[in-house]
Amino acid sequence: MESQPNKLAFDSGWAYSPAPESTDHVHIDKKYDLFIGGEFVAPVKGGYFETINPATEEVLSSVAEATDADVDRAVKAARKAYRGAWSKMNAAERGKYIFRIARILQERAREFSVIESLDGGKPIRESRDIDIPLAAAHFFYYAGWADKLGYAFPGRTPKALGVAGQIIPWNFPLLMAAWKIAPALACGNTVVLKPAETTPLTAMKLAEVIRDAGLPPGVVNIVTGAGKTGAAIVNHPDVDKIAFTGSTDVGRLIQRAIAGTKKKYTLELGGKAANIIFADAAIDQAVEGIVNGIFFNQGHVCCAGSRLFVQESVADEVIQKLKDRMETLIVGDPLDKNTDVGAINSAPQLEKIESYLKIGQQEGAEMYQSSCPVPKRGYWCRPTIFTGVSQSNRVVQEEIFGPVLAIQTFRTLEEGLTKANNTPYGLSGGVWTDKGAKIFKMTQQVRAGVIWANTFNKFDPTSPFGGYKESGVGREGGLHGLGAYVRLEPQS
Ligand code: ADP
Repeated sequence: MESQPNKLAFDSGWAYSPAPESTDHVHIDKKYDLFIGGEFVAPVKGGYFETINPATEEVLSSVAEATDADVDRAVKAARKAYRGAWSKMNAAERGKYIFRIARILQERAREFSVIESLDGGKPIRESRDIDIPLAAAHFFYYAGWADKLGYAFPGRTPKALGVAGQIIPWNFPLLMAAWKIAPALACGNTVVLKPAETTPLTAMKLAEVIRDAGLPPGVVNIVTGAGKTGAAIVNHPDVDKIAFTGSTDVGRLIQRAIAGTKKKYTLELGGKAANIIFADAAIDQAVEGIVNGIFFNQGHVCCAGSRLFVQESVADEVIQKLKDRMETLIVGDPLDKNTDVGAINSAPQLEKIESYLKIGQQEGAEMYQSSCPVPKRGYWCRPTIFTGVSQSNRVVQEEIFGPVLAIQTFRTLEEGLTKANNTPYGLSGGVWTDKGAKIFKMTQQVRAGVIWANTFNKFDPTSPFGGYKESGVGREGGLHGLGAYVRLEPQS
């Protein structure tokens, strides 16, 4: 498959030659079983489902579908490992296992990057430079905390919760697994993790890493399946904590299901981030930030900068520059190192995005799409912007999870702030300005968990992440991320 050179590049004679990453070094099994109690085991009812490459629609592998009985086996294995080896182990020893996972991930980074791009459709540049290094960095970071928890919670004694059930989405498959598993293990918990049904492969490869790192059997169990499997984890009576990242709708179901139980929970849900550009911003840099925020990742990020607010005096300039930049974006083969925008993760997701493109136009907004060609097979969406939208439009209010940007203008800081906060979500935001005072004002008053200033979509394991309002409950990452996996008792 070739990536699609864009028109502007052709016209100017600047088309890049294809630079596909090789897949020779990657081995994907025809079939993956469940990883329970340190072994790969067939599902009780014997069901499997296919996982495909969204860029080619080719089947990559078959993956086990875990039923209630399989989830029960996994929870029992996790409980046994918790009572036995893991909770009794010296904390520094626990840390060594987590360091080992981090190191093996680093050694196998290239293989993981390619599999992530094959299974999920994201450009290799993103999986190679962001997903996989950050996943390893999370394991390194939390490995370091394992024997220092007393310093994280001065004056109190942190105790593990027990068995953590963890359910993750398809947009950052390995990274989300690392976000969830690393702090859980560092705090002495054991884990049952379920990857998303469209992107299970790097989780199964991670299972191999965990086995190779020699973790005691049952400390990490990985079960594959769709919503039903997730619900079986949520409803299992012997799970002490649920950590979920995914849609707000499913987050609500989970919250309802565990209300009145002893289960602790963290929910990282949807978003509709505002990217706010003031007239005094470095415009070219801001335009690059907009592109990075919504197009480079196909908009498949809960913190994607999907609402743009531009100060009126520079709106024409910003929009024109954005359109020019959109014309240079290369949409196509996720494995090509030149590709900027990869494949949409699945057919249903593409349908959802396309339905929003129609809704936006029906609502009277003006749609502009990059003219780049897209491959014939696979799931693709051209980078798209909507102008002439109003605050109440659905493309402004609802999470689309695609490369679709709704643009509005504002005159004063207060107006920008009010518009930015007019959303049920509050996960992230971005501010672009030359003035430090404006940055402080905006970061204090935009109701979102993370605000980037003169940059966007930057992550670090030391920095907490999580939402306000309908974007979720609790924080992951950094010191705050430890709090989600411990019970604090008075110092003995
Ligand atoms: P997205 O829109 O990102 O696919 P979902 O919330 O549908 O988000 O999926 C996120 C994760 O939640 C996936 O692993 C999915 O299988 C799982 N899931 C879906 N429905 C449920 C449910 N009712 N209970 C628990 N997990 C679920």
